[in-house]
Amino acid sequence: MYSASGSFEAFEKKVWLSSPTMHGEEIKYVTEAYETNWMSTVGANINETERLVCEKIGCAYAVGLSSGTAALHLSTRLAGEALYGRQDVTKGSLQGKKVFCSDMTFAATLNSVAYENGEAVFIDTEYDTWNMDPVALEKAFKEYPEVKLVVVAHLYGTPGKIDEIREVCRRHGALLIEDAAESFGATYKGVQTGGFGDYNAISFNGNKIITGSSGGMFLTNSREDADKVRKWSTQSRENAPWYQHEEIGYNYRMSNVIAGVIRGQMPHLEEHIAQKKAIYERYKRGLAGLPVSMNPIDFENSEPNYWLSCMIIDPEGMCEQVRGDKEAMFNPEHGKSCPTEILNAIAGINAEGRPIWKPMHEQPMYKGHGFVKAGNTDVSHDIFERGLCLPSDNKMTEEQQDRIIEVIRACFA
Ligand SMILES: *Cc1c(COP(=O)(O)O)cnc(C)c1O
Repeated sequence: MYSASGSFEAFEKKVWLSSPTMHGEEIKYVTEAYETNWMSTVGANINETERLVCEKIGCAYAVGLSSGTAALHLSTRLAGEALYGRQDVTKGSLQGKKVFCSDMTFAATLNSVAYENGEAVFIDTEYDTWNMDPVALEKAFKEYPEVKLVVVAHLYGTPGKIDEIREVCRRHGALLIEDAAESFGATYKGVQTGGFGDYNAISFNGNKIITGSSGGMFLTNSREDADKVRKWSTQSRENAPWYQHEEIGYNYRMSNVIAGVIRGQMPHLEEHIAQKKAIYERYKRGLAGLPVSMNPIDFENSEPNYWLSCMIIDPEGMCEQVRGDKEAMFNPEHGKSCPTEILNAIAGINAEGRPIWKPMHEQPMYKGHGFVKAGNTDVSHDIFERGLCLPSDNKMTEEQQDRIIEVIRACFA
């Protein structure tokens, strides 16, 4: 296949999309866990990490869990029980209930709706922040007035229109789950994401802005909800001399070793954000003059964490691109390009880009689920067609980033 990167030298060491950045303190806390033998899901690192996250976000309780997905799952279960009461505890809390979910996001945002036997209905994306469109959400409540739960994500670290979304939820008496997995450290109207929902989740997966190698947290101001999540995450053991169970439980608690890594990362969150912001701005300057723009930011209301830098090609700048279920092809054209060509070219110099997260309503496993758009345009699909995620690793040098920019420019030659 044609490669625009032919004339560019490849990096010796791969430039990643977003890889872990360690600082040294992490190993101190991991060693402490080892030497004190708290090699378990109990210990000082967990307590301290939970405290640090509460302090950062401004919430009363944080419960350390094995992943962001676990935090989203237990959020979903809490919401299901709050809305519909406790049903057969072995069968999921959302039995047959529809739930409105972000469409252009990572599948983990909403897979837990299925874990709880509910049915996700997808809400289209808006162009201003690439997140859930509050206009489409309002329309969805007209179409499905029985719905009582919304799950919203802040994609790529850019806060969505959370005030509008909360207002729509309030008007319809719906609860909100906020997936801040990608947006830890980002603010909306000066307030940290991860506290806008009735239930909130963050992630410390290896590719996130700070990491424990894995891990996640459930965030809340409700002591009762925090206690439930802690109990469910440790197999729902009752206070009895033997293993006594009244509810289904999970093995979802955070490890004290992983908490040590996160504890060592926490002081570096703002530094990572500053590095990611510089990367975003360097791309913006470097790509000026091409028929493209960077992922949009609502600067009036929000300060992102710049987790991933993305770009989108103007409709007039797109060459022909055909995507099947698992493969993509394109027709090179002078002055034009497409995500497939650019991703190939970037890969050609040993750097990692990625397509925009493929919309959920286009995923085979969610075929037949509802999808609500504000107007006629399928915005999620349009952004998926024309957009891509750029290498955004905070260890990437300026020289490396400049070469990536040159490779992208060559695609439009
Ligand atoms: C990473 C991610 C998750 C899941 O977090 P894990 O810790 O990997 O389970 C959920 N939602 C979004 C939007 C994510 O990017």
